Amino acid sequence: MRRCPWVRALILALAAASVPAVRASASVSAAPPPPHAAVGRGPDHLLAAICYHRFGPETAKDPYRISLKRLAGELRWLRAHGWQGVTLAQVGRALDGDAGALPPKAVLLTVDDGYRAGAAAAPVFRRYGYRAVFFVVPSVLGRGAFLSYADLRRLEREGFQVASHTLTHPDLAKVPRGLDPTGYARWVRRELGEPKRMLEEALGHPVTALAWPYGAYNPAIAAEALRLGYRQLWSVSGGLNDDATLDRSRLRRIILIGHPSLGSFARRLELLPLKPFPGGIHEGALYYRSSLPLRVDLPPGARAVLGGRPVTLDRRHGFWIGAGLKNGFHYLNVAEADHGIERMTPFLFQVAPDAWRPCFEALEAPQEPPRALLPDGGGASGAAPERRP
Ligand SMILES: [Zn+2]
Repeated sequence: MRRCPWVRALILALAAASVPAVRASASVSAAPPPPHAAVGRGPDHLLAAICYHRFGPETAKDPYRISLKRLAGELRWLRAHGWQGVTLAQVGRALDGDAGALPPKAVLLTVDDGYRAGAAAAPVFRRYGYRAVFFVVPSVLGRGAFLSYADLRRLEREGFQVASHTLTHPDLAKVPRGLDPTGYARWVRRELGEPKRMLEEALGHPVTALAWPYGAYNPAIAAEALRLGYRQLWSVSGGLNDDATLDRSRLRRIILIGHPSLGSFARRLELLPLKPFPGGIHEGALYYRSSLPLRVDLPPGARAVLGGRPVTLDRRHGFWIGAGLKNGFHYLNVAEADHGIERMTPFLFQVAPDAWRPCFEALEAPQEPPRALLPDGGGASGAAPERRP
């Protein structure tokens, strides 16, 4: 699938700016204990997720295709450094509160878009004792360069997993020209609901994980996906998930673009996530209904990079995200040195045109139950149908 320009630019900016020079300071101030004792516990309570696309001979033209040799090197590194492969079901149990569901260093390997050149790596994953999740786009399955349902069934028999990457791979956070709010809401529901139904019917099991095309989402779309029965929403925001603060609507994946070296790959797995900080932002905090400027406060000693440029902090360790920020998606990378441990978390957020607000709000409006579910096929004259959770 083609990347839209913003995601490429932002991801390249992220790659370039992802490792601000933060070193342990000799004089770490006595900070108050974090609000949640279990949060940011250290390097042994992590869930990493990695996003691949396709495999084969590398060319400069295709930054998403990586060689099987490079993949093997990465899997060998993961194995040697104690990263244990996990399944969607294990992540699901962790999200449901089972503290023992994930091993200390859990890694979920994922392959987006359903290319046959994505499944070409299956023997390499198996050789290193890993499996992967294939996030597929049902509207193209079985065509041209894409896997068929028979391929997916074969992969599942080998221990791989299949989940949803929407019906046609659109940027769901962008309102298509000409759609009114009702039309937009209907379109989003179809893009999210249909692939789930189609995959479940073809594969015979529930499909409850979704990866956003282009990583593009906002809280209104995420809430809709959860209403439609998804239980895990995977982004490409980068950074690691701390298994104590997992959020099913904001699961981070590290996307590999542009043939990163093994050193760069390793670095992304080694940078611990930030501990939560007072007044700290989270993804979605800046979405369409929030007004700019917005104040962001950081822990003392932290560094921030917005859109690839370092941010100058004021005396209170904060800054304003200004009203001049362009519409679109932006990365804010925040890094800190925490008693000698380097931490970094990227935050991906969207600033949307105000004209889109009614469309996003239409997604949040309560839905009429389908007529078929109403008593007497509509029940205009009957009692209101009982609302069930
Ligand atoms: Zn995709």
